[in-house]
Amino acid sequence: RADRHVTVHVSVLGNRYILVVVEDRTRAVLAETMRRDFTANVSHELKTPISAVLLLAEAIHDSADDPEAVRHFADRLGEEADRLRRMVGGILALSRIESELDEPETFAPVDLRSIVDGAVSATGVAAEGRNISVTVRTQGDLVVRGDADALESAVTNLLSNAIEHSPHGADVGVQATGDADGVTVIVSDQGEGIPKAKQERVFERFYRVDPARSRESGTGGTGLGLSIVKHVALRHGGSVSLWSKVGVGSSFTLRLPREQAADVLASEPDADR
Ligand code: ADP
Repeated sequence: RADRHVTVHVSVLGNRYILVVVEDRTRAVLAETMRRDFTANVSHELKTPISAVLLLAEAIHDSADDPEAVRHFADRLGEEADRLRRMVGGILALSRIESELDEPETFAPVDLRSIVDGAVSATGVAAEGRNISVTVRTQGDLVVRGDADALESAVTNLLSNAIEHSPHGADVGVQATGDADGVTVIVSDQGEGIPKAKQERVFERFYRVDPARSRESGTGGTGLGLSIVKHVALRHGGSVSLWSKVGVGSSFTLRLPREQAADVLASEPDADR
């Protein structure tokens, strides 16, 4: 098949036997392609804020006799540096998840109730700043096997997106439900929503629906948050999906199975596609 990378090794053993070894390198080739794409993406994405920092430093240098301009450029420089910091943090988080969660035997029982509590307190300041009330509902057995830090970063990313994309004073809901199959966490908001045509792409690394849109607190996102969520979900043998309607809101559903079969975790070569 055209999408498989296979090497066939043939050796002749004496004059009676031929040894044929078929090696399927598809996963290795895919992993290598992903790594190369990722490195190319990272370098490309880092270039923009780095150029901005350099230009702003030059602008500050040239504005020595205009304190007003110096202040303005210095603020902008701070924002760009903060964006760089968040990007590097996101990139490190992604590679940590990739390397550590390859080992499902390091998973331990995790109660999603405390994960949700942690995410709510991590986003408390942001919610207060926008006067947003976060309502949490939990039901059933919420314990799964997993990596607590990774799961908390996934739920925190969903919640902070929901808060950030909500109008001032709106409600955001987090609902965690456990049943025999696993745990479902739904984070919903009454924000601007995501156009249908873009919904599939929001889970890609570095993808932003509207890169020009400034966050109120800075210079825009990194486009890494949802790819981290997707990564964490897949590494736990679960999934993340999205329902959204422009002008109505969005809701993200994170599903985590109660027990992950080892082969599920091992068979995700395209975890971030
Ligand atoms: P970031 O938020 O850093 O830009 P994400 O990967 O978290 O990156 O999100 C990707 C894009 O998806 C965002 O740029 C935003 O446009 C869109 N998005 C994510 N969550 C929401 C939401 N709750 N409501 C509307 N748009 C969202």
